[in-house]
Amino acid sequence: MTATVGLDVGGTKLLAVVLDDSGAVLAAGRADTPRAGPRRAGVSQAGPGRAGARGGGEAGPAGAVLVQALVELALRVAGGASADISAVGVGVPGLVDPRGVLRFAPNLPAGEGVDFSSALRAGVGVSTIAVGNDATCAALGELTYGAASGLSDVLVVTLGTGIGGGVVVNGEILRGANGFAGEIGHVVVDPGGPACSCGQRGCWERYASGSGLARLAREAALGGRIDSVVRLAGGDPEAVRPEHVTAAAASGDQAAEAVMDELGWWIALGVANLVSVLDPELVVLGGGLMAAGDLVLTPTRRAFGELLQAAHERPAVGIVAAGLGENAGAVGAAVMARAEQPEVHRQ
Ligand SMILES: [Zn+2]
Repeated sequence: MTATVGLDVGGTKLLAVVLDDSGAVLAAGRADTPRAGPRRAGVSQAGPGRAGARGGGEAGPAGAVLVQALVELALRVAGGASADISAVGVGVPGLVDPRGVLRFAPNLPAGEGVDFSSALRAGVGVSTIAVGNDATCAALGELTYGAASGLSDVLVVTLGTGIGGGVVVNGEILRGANGFAGEIGHVVVDPGGPACSCGQRGCWERYASGSGLARLAREAALGGRIDSVVRLAGGDPEAVRPEHVTAAAASGDQAAEAVMDELGWWIALGVANLVSVLDPELVVLGGGLMAAGDLVLTPTRRAFGELLQAAHERPAVGIVAAGLGENAGAVGAAVMARAEQPEVHRQ
């Protein structure tokens, strides 16, 4: 039996699956994303504004560490599945060029400049390697086997360290002129807002991602609005993490629920803007933040109903969690790789 390996590179974790031709996950694994070291060689870690100095550099030593971790994870999951691995796909956060090089990745500095295609071909020993944007992969996974299966127009939003987007139009993944479509996390929602690692201020992902929740929680903690959560975190407002807030909200803590409401409002704001542009029939929310489930979905749906233009004149647009859960990106990466094998006929 042949199978493909799908890899999903996140800001904090690496996920992997082995997918057979029927879409069954034969094996799955995970590893921590190696801690970021220096940016790509020759580019210093200056502050905001450094974006203009970027472009065209080579991967740094941290890139090699990242690749090594990915290769080890791929070989580990492949070894756990009794199948011949015919292709490997990888989804990475940021702008990926057609050669499989990650050009720009605010949430994965170590990956900038890395030629994932060549590195994985050499490391895993499989000739067919497909490299794509992680959220685009998640959309492909959801379209093929998940919540978007059988649908024609869908917006997939991945809420992780940052925010990624995948857009399905007429049953096809929207790629754009350069393959860069769907970079929704860096749409600015407040020009005077907090600095983003991309070099701008007030990007949507500063408010509505996992790191956005961390920022909202920190502000609430320092502002004395979630003292019960601060106690849960050991008494130090600076120690409050998103998981403290979600745990407290899950147990009915109203102050923590208010932070989740704030998060949901920001998620809904961006989703409503995108629904105005794209007119999808369904919005799928994925990524690590969705481990909180209804704690995210419920306030997001409520605010979306208030923020969407002319909501009463439209058929209802559902907002659901990814059907494949946190594996959506890895499954989609495997699907992407399967489609690139020369011996596989596309349907
Ligand atoms: Zn940004």
